[in-house]
Amino acid sequence: MKFTKFSITTLIILCFFLIDLHSQKSSSNFVVVLDAGHGGKDPGNRGNGYYEKNIALNIVLAIGKKLESQSDIKTIYTRKTDIFVDLFQRANIANSADADLFISIHCDAHNSNAYGAGTFVLGLHANQRNFEIAKKENSVIFLEDNYEVNYDGFDPNNPESVIGLILMQEEYLDQSITAASSIQKRFVGELGRKNRRVKQAGFIVLKYTYMPSVLVETGFLTNKNEGSFLNSTRGQKLMANSIYKAILDYKKNLENSLNKLSLNEKNKKEDIIVSSKKYDIAYKIQIAASRRKLELKSYNFKGLEPISILLEDNMYKYYYGSFLKHKTVVKELKKIKKKSYKEAFIVPFLGKTKISLKTAMEIEKKIKS
Ligand SMILES: [Zn+2]
Repeated sequence: MKFTKFSITTLIILCFFLIDLHSQKSSSNFVVVLDAGHGGKDPGNRGNGYYEKNIALNIVLAIGKKLESQSDIKTIYTRKTDIFVDLFQRANIANSADADLFISIHCDAHNSNAYGAGTFVLGLHANQRNFEIAKKENSVIFLEDNYEVNYDGFDPNNPESVIGLILMQEEYLDQSITAASSIQKRFVGELGRKNRRVKQAGFIVLKYTYMPSVLVETGFLTNKNEGSFLNSTRGQKLMANSIYKAILDYKKNLENSLNKLSLNEKNKKEDIIVSSKKYDIAYKIQIAASRRKLELKSYNFKGLEPISILLEDNMYKYYYGSFLKHKTVVKELKKIKKKSYKEAFIVPFLGKTKISLKTAMEIEKKIKS
């Protein structure tokens, strides 16, 4: 498990809340959201005449069946039948469920004989091929009503547009990669699938989730052998079984890391618990980052105030405002993106420490209750 993106403090806080939530909820389940790509009017790719939407759904249902036998795991589906679900709605389902892991299942297609299984996390595509895969999976938004509003002017055909996607999920990148690696390990080690590795690309469905999230391209329907394997009951069961075991691997790995951390950092943790009693969370809006230090005057920031600053990785980061409620900051962000800073995004803080959106929202919930 790599935790390089987190500061230890953030982890301790996260750990505290995980433990705390555990004691509060009687059903302290590990929640997995299974997302079968496409569906209804969107068939997905039709390589060799197969239906991606059906294969994805069959694999998802088979994973779910296995997961449901685990008493400490709760499984949620974005769809269990052949229906069309908007991409942002899929993310909403996962966010409302406060899920621990989001897995989207797909099949790839190509005009070559390409084959093999790969798993994606959200990020900048390293090459044209990865961009093309994301573009294809994202283009489904054109079938949705109101996509301009729901995706904030996102254009799947424009590589630049994808850059704005990566900011939110960055917080979960390490865990997403760990989950993706667990899946790839099983695919390759257990099933001997060709390893197309863990890669990054700008998938919309991964952007809006507030949790570790991966998108699995189980294989190529356009490839004769792989297509017929994926379309077979046996192939679907094998793929599902590997993904199921990878989820267990990931969960165990996460629990081990948190246990280790809570033992090592017991004293520090208690300090944090005391200081976090004040619940001084603040949602700020990052509007700019620069190597140059600007004076915090509103005329330097298109009239916005108050502005605060944080030096991180040799970059000065500039934030507008300080809001106590997520709802309020979301409204404010919308205005700012429209008016002045198109690439602005929300950063939650606990005191002076950046925390994940999920943790911030947990704290907010606690304050309310
Ligand atoms: Zn797909």
